[in-house]
Parts: sequence; structure tokens; C-alpha cells
Amino acid sequence: DAKVVLITGCSSGIGLSLAVRLASDPQKAFKVYATMRNLSKKERLLESVKGLHKDTLDILQMDVTSQQSILEATARIVEKRIDILVCNAGVGLMGPLEVQSLESMRKILEVNLLGTIQTIQAFLPDMKARGKGHILVTGSTGGLHGLPFNEVYCASKFAVEGACESLAILLQHFNIHVSLIECGPVNTDFLANLQKAEVGDVCQNLDKQTLALYEKYLQHCDSVFQNSAQDTEDIVKVFQDAIQSPNPAFRYFTSDVVPPLTKLKVTEPDGSRMTKRTTPIFFRAMLEMSDTHSLKFLRGSTKRTSSNPRRNFINLVAPITTRKVE
Ligand code: NAD
Repeated sequence: DAKVVLITGCSSGIGLSLAVRLASDPQKAFKVYATMRNLSKKERLLESVKGLHKDTLDILQMDVTSQQSILEATARIVEKRIDILVCNAGVGLMGPLEVQSLESMRKILEVNLLGTIQTIQAFLPDMKARGKGHILVTGSTGGLHGLPFNEVYCASKFAVEGACESLAILLQHFNIHVSLIECGPVNTDFLANLQKAEVGDVCQNLDKQTLALYEKYLQHCDSVFQNSAQDTEDIVKVFQDAIQSPNPAFRYFTSDVVPPLTKLKVTEPDGSRMTKRTTPIFFRAMLEMSDTHSLKFLRGSTKRTSSNPRRNFINLVAPITTRKVE
């Protein structure tokens, strides 16, 4: 029997790629319910599957912030069960904290945190009753360590970590696996879709120092996405590994080393290196960012420079932490 998969946020990016890949499985091992908030955006997904997958793909409307919409989608699942739930829908919010409106902050938390939890709530009773299931959540390195000018986004993704970790402890008693797929920068519409404070616009009343740091951060961000973002295909492979594993891990990293800033939390739990020594990474001007060490630093290198992960970590950290803090 094909495994029934439901994915949220499939109109673009990681959700779209994952839906296409699973629906194209040559063994037809999956029946995919690709859900999206706005069905008028389904063309991209339909073009990607080229009409070949009528029996393995269904597209449903689902806004993760609306319980009604989740219930209506659930009612349209022919098999009356979901084996694999992928909570992927998410949005970003970037800019100095003092310019963010309560409304925009609420929206991020509603989609990223409550949307994820609400979706899980909808499918949990049935998975528990059947004593099986796999819940996968698109996590972010921004849910594992702080990123300046992303306070609310990070708060939402940290919160998702807490919710998933708590659930994972309980759900092992029901043979339900929970897996977080922790992504660094990925080439998707994420940057275009995120709510970003524009320098010349909302930042008019901002103090000069914050504005200067924000401009540097935006350059850093562009540079990181241009030079070291992964493709959705890389992320989809990690999802596939997790989905196919008989004993899935709780956390998967999409590049082959744990991001160094995440490691710093474990190796130096007082947080002083994390807060003070990261300034040169986030706030250096664009030209200085040509240093590939620091570009790879944030998400971890895709290629190991040494077979010893500890050595590799030192290689990555050393050139940055010895630099003078501006
Ligand atoms: P994306 O913007 O292409 O995809 C996000 C999808 O979520 C969109 O299709 C959007 O329409 C959908 N969405 C937003 N609000 C929704 C709602 N209320 N209900 C249903 N769907 C909704 O970007 P992406 O990179 O593919 O993002 C997917 C996930 O990956 C997000 O959770 C994001 O936080 C996470 N992530 C992305 C990156 C990155 O650099 N792209 C890095 C780490 C984590």
C-alpha cells in the first residue's frame, strides 16, 4: 500500500520540490496530498509534475492558520489516514525589532508556530489510534541559534523545536516518529516572500547605529544566499532519508556538519562567544564576505575539509574567532 503523505506550503520552495519528488516515485510508494494556502498558485506545482502523476498527487487548499481549512482538507483525504505529515509552511520576518508591528509579529508566530502545532493536532489522534506515523517539520538553523534582525522568526523556530522535542519524547510510546529537518539558507522564494523592513522606508526613525548594522546584515544575507544556499533538491534528499529510515532520527542537518554556531552552544554554554564573537560574521561589509570560510560558517560546510569533524569545526571557527571584534 502506498504511504499517504500530507505536505503543507507546497506552492513553492521545499514543499513543492518534496511533493514533486515523492509523487514521482517510480514504485508509486507514496500518495501525496500537496496542500497550499492559495490554490490559484497551483500552476507551478502542476507544471513541475507535468500532468504525469494523477494517481499519486492531489492538491488541496490548506491554510495552516485556519482550523476550518485544516478540517476541510482532512475531510478530503480519500484514504482517511495520513502516514507521513510534513509541516513545512513558514514565513520569515526581518528587520530591526523596534520597527516590527504587533500584527506582523503575530502573523509569523501564527504561521510558523501555531500553524505547525495546529496541523499536528489535527492528525495526532488518528496516528495515536493506529499506533504509527511520522511527523516531519522543516526546521531552521535559526531555530537553533540566534540571528540578528531575525528575532521573531528565530523565536518562532526555537518554539517549534521545543514543541517537537516535547512531542518526540511522548510519541515514541505510540510508535510515532518526529523529525526536524534543519535547513540553513535554501534557494527558494523564502527571501522574496519574507516580510522585510526596507532601509529607506520604515527605518527612517531608526538610530544611525542600528541602521548601519542592518545595512551590513542585509549585505551579509544577500551574500550568504548567493554563495552558499543549498538547492531544494539537497533538502528533499534529506527528507527522503528521514522518510525511508525504519528508525528515523529526531534531528537531521541538511549539510554534512552540524552548524558551528549550534555547536558553540554545547561547547561554550555560557553564550559569551556566541554573542560577542559572531559580530564579524554578521556585520562585515560585502567585499570582506568573499572569504569562503565565513560564508560556509553559518550553515556548516557542504564539503568536509577534514574527515575529523572536530578538526573541521576548528578550521571553520579559527579564522573568524581570531578576528578583532569591530
Ligand atoms: P517558500 O516561501 O518558497 O515556501 C513557504 C511556503 O509556505 C509558501 O508556499 C507559502 O505560500 C507557504 N505558506 C505561508 N503561509 C502559509 C499558511 N498560512 N498556510 C499554508 N501555507 C503557507 O520558502 P521555503 O524556503 O520553501 O520555506 C519552507 C520552510 O523552510 C519554511 O518553514 C521556512 O521557515 C523553512 N526554512 C527555509 C529556509 C530558506 O533559506 N529558504 C531556511 C531554513 C528554514
